[in-house]
Amino acid sequence: MSDEVHDDAPETFAFQAEIAQLMSLIINTFYSNKEIFLRELISNSSDALDKIRYQSLTDPSKLDSGKELKIEIIPNKDENTLTLIDTGCGMTKSDLINNLGTIAKSGTKAFMEALQSGADISMIGQFGVGFYSAFLVADNVRVVSKHNDDDCYSWESSAGGSFTVIPDVTDSLTRGTKIILHLKEDQTEYLEEKKIKEIVKKHSQFIGYPISLHVEKEREKEISDDEEEEEKTEEKMDDDKPKVEDIEDAEEESKDEDKKKKKKIKEKYIDLEELNKTKPLWTRNPDDISQDEYGEFYKSLTNDWEDHLGVKHFSVEGQLEFRALLFIPKRAPFDLFENRKMKNNIKLYVRRVFIMDNCEDLIPEYLNFVKGVVDSEDLPLNISRETLQQSKILKVIRKNIVKKCVELFTEITEDKEQFKKFYEQFGKNLKLGIHEDSQNRKKLAGFLRYHSSQSGDELTSMEDYVTRMKENQKDIYYITGESKDQVSHSVFVERVTKRGFEVLYMVEPIDEYCVQQLKEFDGKTLVSVTKEGLELPEDEDEKKKFEEAKAKYDNLCKVIKEILDKKVEKVVVSNRLVSSPCCIVTSQYGWSANMERIMKAQALRDTSTMGYMAAKKNLEINPEHLIMEQLREKCEVDKNDKSVKDLVLLLFETSLLSSGFSLEDPSTHATRIHRMIKLGLGIDDTEEEQAAPEEPEDMPPLEGEGEDDDASRMEEVD
Ligand code: ADP
Repeated sequence: MSDEVHDDAPETFAFQAEIAQLMSLIINTFYSNKEIFLRELISNSSDALDKIRYQSLTDPSKLDSGKELKIEIIPNKDENTLTLIDTGCGMTKSDLINNLGTIAKSGTKAFMEALQSGADISMIGQFGVGFYSAFLVADNVRVVSKHNDDDCYSWESSAGGSFTVIPDVTDSLTRGTKIILHLKEDQTEYLEEKKIKEIVKKHSQFIGYPISLHVEKEREKEISDDEEEEEKTEEKMDDDKPKVEDIEDAEEESKDEDKKKKKKIKEKYIDLEELNKTKPLWTRNPDDISQDEYGEFYKSLTNDWEDHLGVKHFSVEGQLEFRALLFIPKRAPFDLFENRKMKNNIKLYVRRVFIMDNCEDLIPEYLNFVKGVVDSEDLPLNISRETLQQSKILKVIRKNIVKKCVELFTEITEDKEQFKKFYEQFGKNLKLGIHEDSQNRKKLAGFLRYHSSQSGDELTSMEDYVTRMKENQKDIYYITGESKDQVSHSVFVERVTKRGFEVLYMVEPIDEYCVQQLKEFDGKTLVSVTKEGLELPEDEDEKKKFEEAKAKYDNLCKVIKEILDKKVEKVVVSNRLVSSPCCIVTSQYGWSANMERIMKAQALRDTSTMGYMAAKKNLEINPEHLIMEQLREKCEVDKNDKSVKDLVLLLFETSLLSSGFSLEDPSTHATRIHRMIKLGLGIDDTEEEQAAPEEPEDMPPLEGEGEDDDASRMEEVD
């Protein structure tokens, strides 16, 4: 008897020193994001539920103490308490003593150190001391717990260095844990239905067990109040005036009575509202999930208002286990490439417990438009961002995710319209991927689509290009430039297309980077039609003709090189031109004209690279062009002819423009052109020089002035 009394008396324990220190830190540190306490407690409950579920796999009788696995939240405004109940594994008396206060984990100290060096209290869970976050909002915490192997015990503490443990016979727990938080005076907002719902949705919506909130509601209830009824009959008995009642009156009376009977009163009752209805969809079998369900899940995950464009749901088993659910949105966010900060992309879960948003290490940057969830079975729950980066498990997961993304893109290609939409939105990402991801470069190249000299309004894949290649064609030809319009009229394209070869039009700045890495597709080299050394397949006749032309124009090439001097690397005879007299090609390894344009446009570019990377230009001349023929003849007569120099410079500048470069000194070029115009119009230079000063510069033209005046104004502009 005396033994029993002794057992029932509360035993007092001192918190282990570091834990006591941690608790006072939690209580005294000014910290506004206190709501995370609920996430921590729910996560502990979820762990405890995981444990009992796991145990029951081998021993189903473990669930004899209750089959339902759930979490309940009960706010009580009268008592100022917030209670969490779970039907998890519960804790024995010694668990309570050891786990909640006397045995410090390494995380206790580590967390305090982390706090000192600027960590946030919300990281508490990662250090395995999440339970103590209860003291962020509570001044007294009671933990009642029932383990299958022990009686029910109650743990209680108001911090201050100690806690008590006492057997609890009053509680009806059959298995699990009940945590009763007595809230601090200024923390009563956590009793508000709205607040609790908000926090659970934010932090715990994908917990794998139902979380129900006790919500006090009012409903109308019919009363069959006997007393009232009795009163009524008594009244009737007393009232003997209406002795004669016709039928109608009697009916009226009975209706009246009905009304009175149906009178409703308001009654309070408790409703259990499930807060995490968005079940962890990824844990279910994909065969049982409808597209609508995926859509709803996607929307709840991303706050997108539209459904997704594509979804991939898979699990990986074996040495490493994880499940993932990946979505491709219909639209790219407006700031896809502007904002280097990662957005809500992939959420990482470990065994259904949310670990972190934006897990950058899970997916490469070029796939930053993919949204979803990854749930690992192998990672430790208390993993931090820092340890994640080194995690081998994560590297394997990442590799798998990229592989599955590529599979998903392939699936999308099956629907041409869908793929078109996808490519419009995320084509740039694929190109970035080709630039960055050498391992998947080949596969990603299969998704590229371009306009070409043969594709019309449609886009073509490289694969289709290859099927259209001529028998003698070894390479894939492409041109980079500013727009489809510009490149399709380019002098470089003309020779190639004239001979029946197709040219891909790469007109996005990123193409330039992408193609530099890609180099080939399906064993065929990607050849820029604007770079030197473009060799088109040709027959013996053509070769012979070309050799002859080279010999014939050798001298002119030398003269031109002398005139242009450092402006060009070399001057050579070309076989790639049809209607243009000459063009500028760039050397194999330097920038193309388009790249030079892009680099010049980048405000923050490193000016030093401009020097050595700036496109190395070669002038190629067309031996079949009349201008070149004439120029050659003129040269042979007198290579020092003043007009030869002028014409060469003019030709050079014009081909810079037509080859996609900008002019260093446009006004000199304009002067040269004007001189040509005057020559064409038969205007004498000396005449103009005399006339010019006489005209006041900003004099508006007089109305009705003749053509002559117009002409002189034109000269004046010059
Ligand atoms: P962590 O959960 O990260 O291990 P906590 O400080 O949150 O660290 O919890 C300490 C320990 O207390 C847990 O490891 C667990 O054994 C036990 N515990 C906490 N909450 C519960 C619960 N609801 N049911 C069963 N055991 C619990």
